[in-house]
Amino acid sequence: MSPSNSILTGRDIRMAHLIDGNACADQQCARLSASVAALTHGGHTPTLAVILVGENPASLLYVRNKTRACQRVGVRHEQHLLPSDATESAVLTLIAQLNEREAIDAILVQLPLPPQIRTEQVIAAIDPSKDVDGFHPVNVGRLMLGLPGPRPCTPLGIMALLETTGVPLPGATATVVGRSAIVGKPIAQLLINADVTVTMCHSKTRALADHVRTADIVVAAIGRPQYVQGTWIKPGAIVIDVGINRQPDGTIVGDVDRATAAHAGHITPVPGGVGPMTIAMVLQNCVMLAKQRLQ
Ligand code: NDP
Repeated sequence: MSPSNSILTGRDIRMAHLIDGNACADQQCARLSASVAALTHGGHTPTLAVILVGENPASLLYVRNKTRACQRVGVRHEQHLLPSDATESAVLTLIAQLNEREAIDAILVQLPLPPQIRTEQVIAAIDPSKDVDGFHPVNVGRLMLGLPGPRPCTPLGIMALLETTGVPLPGATATVVGRSAIVGKPIAQLLINADVTVTMCHSKTRALADHVRTADIVVAAIGRPQYVQGTWIKPGAIVIDVGINRQPDGTIVGDVDRATAAHAGHITPVPGGVGPMTIAMVLQNCVMLAKQRLQ
C-alpha cells in the first residue's frame, strides 16, 4: 500500500483501540435471535448436536458456553456425552445417526478427541451440509475455492471483528502467525479471499519479528503466552490475538504482549476478544445450515 492509503494514515501513536468481542458477539446474537424466532415460527427450530468425548475440563467449559449461547438465541441444543474410552466406531455410529436425523441441522464434535479416536476420520464422517465448524474436507475445499459454505468459526469471528474497525481490507498486508487447520490456515484463506496480501508464519519461520513488523494486520494464533512482542507491531496496525493461555495464577493471557503494543491501531483483548465471537459464529453457522436445509 502507498503511504497515502495506508491503514496508518491519520493515526498517531496512542493507546490502541480495544476491539470489544463481547459487544460484537452480543449484536450478532441479537440478529440471530430474530432469525431463529422467524424459523421457529415457520415450524422448524435450528438444532445443534454437540458430541463430547471424555471430560477434558477445557472442553466441558467450551461446551457449557456453547449451550448457554444456544439457549440465549433460541437454538435447540442436543448434547451427546461419550466416555473417555469410547471407541472411534462408537463416535462414527453416532455421527451417522445424527447425519440421518431430519431434525438435526448442525453437528459439532468438540476437539480434542482422546488418542484412540482419529480426528480426521471423525470430521470426514460428518455430513458436509451439517458441518457447523467448517472442518470437513469438502468445506475446506470450498473455502479454498471461494465457494459458499460453512467457514471455521474462529476465523469467521475474526473477519467480523476486523469489519468493526472500519478499516478497508483490500490491498492491506497481514501476517498470520500459526498455521493450524482450525485457525491459522483458514484465516489466511479468508483474508486472501478478502483481497488482503498474506504472509503465513509458523515455528520454523526465520526472523518472525520482521514479518510481523511489515503487517497492517497481525493475527497471532500460536498458543504461547505473550510471545508476540509489542515492539514487533507496526504503529497503527490491527492486532488480533487468538491465543488463550492459562497462567499458573489462573489468569488468561493471549499470544501478544498487549502491555507493549499500545501503539497498535486496534487490538483484541484476551479474554473478551476473539473467544466470544467464536461461539457467536457457531450459532451463525448453525442458523445458516438450517436455512439451507429448509431450502
Ligand atoms: P496449534 O497448536 O494447533 O497451532 C499452533 C501454531 O503456532 C502452529 O502452526 C505452530 O507452528 C505455531 N507456532 C508455535 N510456536 C511458534 C513460534 N514460536 N513462532 C511461530 N509460530 C509458532 O494451535 P491452535 O491454532 O489450535 O490455537 C492457537 C491458540 O489459539 C491457542 O492458544 C488456542 O487456545 C487459541 N484458540 C483460541 C480460540 C478462540 O476462540 N479464541 C479458538 C481456537 C484456538 P508449527 O505448525 O510449525 O508447529
